[in-house]
Amino acid sequence: MRSSERPPAGTALPQRARIAVLAGRVTAMVSRLTRRGGGMTISGHVALWLDPALITHLTRGRPVVVVSGTNGKTTTTRFVAAGLRARHQVVTNDSGANLVSGVAAALLASTDPRTCPAALEVDEFALPAVLRATEASVVVLLNLSRDQLDRGSEVSAHVRRWATALAAAPTAVVVANADDPLVCAAVLGARPDGTAVRWVATGSRRGVDVPLCPRCQAAWATPWPMWACGACGLARPTPAWTAHEGRVTGPGGEDIAVQLALPGQVNVANAAMAAAACDVLSVPPSVTLAAASSVDEVAGRYLRTTYDGVGVRLLLGKNPAGWTEVLDLIEPGAGPVVLAVNAGVADGVDVSWLWDVPFEQLRGRRVVATGERSEDLSVRLHYAGVEHEREVDPVRAAVRLGGADCEIVANYTAFTQVRARLRASHRPRTPYVTTAGR
Ligand SMILES: [Zn+2]
Repeated sequence: MRSSERPPAGTALPQRARIAVLAGRVTAMVSRLTRRGGGMTISGHVALWLDPALITHLTRGRPVVVVSGTNGKTTTTRFVAAGLRARHQVVTNDSGANLVSGVAAALLASTDPRTCPAALEVDEFALPAVLRATEASVVVLLNLSRDQLDRGSEVSAHVRRWATALAAAPTAVVVANADDPLVCAAVLGARPDGTAVRWVATGSRRGVDVPLCPRCQAAWATPWPMWACGACGLARPTPAWTAHEGRVTGPGGEDIAVQLALPGQVNVANAAMAAAACDVLSVPPSVTLAAASSVDEVAGRYLRTTYDGVGVRLLLGKNPAGWTEVLDLIEPGAGPVVLAVNAGVADGVDVSWLWDVPFEQLRGRRVVATGERSEDLSVRLHYAGVEHEREVDPVRAAVRLGGADCEIVANYTAFTQVRARLRASHRPRTPYVTTAGR
């Protein structure tokens, strides 16, 4: 749409919402000018304080795709936005601010027409509030796993909260991971007959970590991967979509080769979820998957660059499930690995999750434990049988190791610190390119 055809931003909004949008934009601008950050969170807080119904006003008339789950929501949201962008302008919160305030901030910052779709990444804790505030067209549910033990809820609590939230959003089509029993329990808790649910077989191995039926706590009658409970009947649903190695199969039998710039089967699964979501909004899966292939970096994740003559790839692992996925991405037997663990508020200050990460697979590699909690990490590596060195500074550790293929795997605040230093010093090299079947 040409800019001359756009309705002036804010004209159809109630006066209170218009004031909130203006105040939010001014707040974001001041925050940026005073270098207090991107202003996303604070602008959303200010605007919602002035108009608690702002998200409802700013999403009315839009198709809204909400993406939630413990792992992969930023990448999947990026894929959804890329797919929708093939046909429309899109509003999205690609800054990573995924709480209610971040959603509000992204919407109020947009000057695109208020009829264009929104692709919104939403924290799993914030999902019920965002579903209450929007009439979401599509809800994409990726997975549930333990995260931030000191401040997050147990996953069973999320299952119950998600089920309640979905029951209150009867018009939304749900795109759900059929290989995660926790997601299935939440979705089938709200929609026992699977009405308006599009199940996706992602090949996720997380079901292995769910030893009991999440609905009734009975032992599985049939174990993962074709899990089924003999007591309450909860069982793996029949998927309409399947993510294979390097391919996605849709409900019409279409079999589409996927060549992503992002590595790993986990991203093929994320692309399949995005294709199923965009299909609800009439974007063909071939279009979404082609658009997803253009995404080569997600907020610095998978960033390949050089620093002081050393080639590094930066990977993010925020919780045990995320670390398990990124450790799977590391080529066996190749270059050295720098592990960086902090325990700031944004990471969760309890690092007992380290014991749930399969560090054993790094045996035989050259490994350095780094970060503010490098000592805790060192203890964990010792018991995993991984010989290693210790150095607090991850970037200094990478430089000391030298070479062309150093992997830095970091949790959230360590990742943001390393990313800032790498970006400040060097321009990216060619993006990492995966091969089908990885
Ligand atoms: Zn059961």
